[in-house]
Amino acid sequence: MRRRTNQSRGPSRRQLIENERLYGDIRLREGAVSVGLAYPNRYGVGMANLGYQTILHRIRSIPGVSAERVFQGDDEGPLKTFETQKPVGGLDALLFSVSFENDYVNLVRMLNQARIPLDREERDDRHPMIVVGGAITFLNPEPLRKYADLMLMGEGEEIVCEYIDRLQSDRGEARAERVRRAATIAGAYVPALHGAAGEVERRSYMAMKHDPALTRILTPYSEFSDTLLMEISRGCPRRCRFCTVGSAFPKFRMLPADKAVEIAERFRAEDVAAGRRPVNKVGLVTAAFFDHIESERMAEMLFARGFEIGASSVRVDQLTLPLLEYLRKSGLQALTIAPEAGTERLRKIIAKEATDEKIMAGVSKVAAAGFRSLRIYYMVGLPFETEHDRAGLVNEAMRIRSHFYNQISGSGRVTVSLHPFVPKPRTSFQWSAMRRPKDIKKIVLAIRKQLPGIRVKCPSHKDVYLEGILARGGEDLAPFLESVAAGSSWQAAARETNLPLEELIYSDRPGETAFPWEMEGKDRVDRVNWREFQRASDLNTTEVSQSS
Ligand code: SF4
Repeated sequence: MRRRTNQSRGPSRRQLIENERLYGDIRLREGAVSVGLAYPNRYGVGMANLGYQTILHRIRSIPGVSAERVFQGDDEGPLKTFETQKPVGGLDALLFSVSFENDYVNLVRMLNQARIPLDREERDDRHPMIVVGGAITFLNPEPLRKYADLMLMGEGEEIVCEYIDRLQSDRGEARAERVRRAATIAGAYVPALHGAAGEVERRSYMAMKHDPALTRILTPYSEFSDTLLMEISRGCPRRCRFCTVGSAFPKFRMLPADKAVEIAERFRAEDVAAGRRPVNKVGLVTAAFFDHIESERMAEMLFARGFEIGASSVRVDQLTLPLLEYLRKSGLQALTIAPEAGTERLRKIIAKEATDEKIMAGVSKVAAAGFRSLRIYYMVGLPFETEHDRAGLVNEAMRIRSHFYNQISGSGRVTVSLHPFVPKPRTSFQWSAMRRPKDIKKIVLAIRKQLPGIRVKCPSHKDVYLEGILARGGEDLAPFLESVAAGSSWQAAARETNLPLEELIYSDRPGETAFPWEMEGKDRVDRVNWREFQRASDLNTTEVSQSS
């Protein structure tokens, strides 16, 4: 008996399509070239991804191209396109937009469901070209080397159009020739011809300042069912040593406030013209809200025009009362602050320099704005973390709780999220080890015991360690990846495929390690990261002596 699909339990494909609102010209067109834009996860997850929507819009604006969406199904296949239910195996190209390491597993599953050989060397002229792009290409796409005919490295807005042009002009050529010609595109990484991802310069898209990523299709069946998303900045001007956004992505760019308002009004006008009730909530997507020089002005202007706003990330040491009030009045129930580490000492080491005083001042503003629910986000198992820092985390969380409860009227709620540290590629901590699951369990348990009355959450270890392995490993992870895709747990897959976990994630790496994602001869990012790692190490010595 065939398994039922998730979609058969939820809304049908037809219901999903009928309930979508389209913004701008993003209709599916007929075209001689057939492309599938695949998101290696479910419909609702893919449709909440702004990068996916942006690339879909780009490809659909190219004449002569039929670009359908493809999402992960959970029956045995064959995998079909979302709109017209064509078997994916018959398309000219299947482009995967990959934002997270853990979705590598779904990518492998989708190739299996599509009956496309996993190994690029076993494909022939009958098979679609398998192309990988997305945020992951800034980090470490090497585990996908076996599967991808081509990877489009960096920000995809322009390079994807150049590739589709190439696909159109090379139609009818033999596969090997199409692959060879694709390699001439700047930013194209062709595993059959290049030694490693680090050989290829990643592309950036500076026009984002005028042409940001926007919601193009709104659906009630995704996380942002009532919110039109607008990217107001890309990158981050800070360099927290654990974070990829500040180090790996190109320089910080901002959308002017006037342009943001113009776009929001355009969304509204489209709804009115289509006879729909306008969606009035605008989600401002940014990694660094207050580093945008016009953030407050933008929020104020939008609010004055009757828009509700959401902001994806706000730093606790930069919070302002007016912004918090806009967020509160826009329906946000709980605010998340992210000190990341529990002592000033460790925050200096990781370069997230929020002082105790600024955190408490931020908490006061959250209470004053009328929030009753506060979430505090910390990482555990950070490089250079000591028992002193973990005790500091407990003290700080208790202090924040008392401070928050003293300032709100009525009852409230404080939640602490503890996220195990994952050493990410192209950050200053890429050389650092990950703590073993049993150590993390012990740490979380001890913290939980010392925080009575506070809800303590920790993500599933499965997701965290899978991410750690896939972030750090190379092409030789393919057997591991395929074993997980076939249903093994990460531990069983690691055992079955003799993965050297000790070396891969549980040990610090020496400074001279040549990671596959590094540019040849080390680029500026790699050099800065190494210098920053040494600074962190020096701070550890000096800050320890100060705090002891
Ligand atoms: S953690 Fe936030 S502030 Fe720090 S670099 Fe990353 S995005 Fe920027």
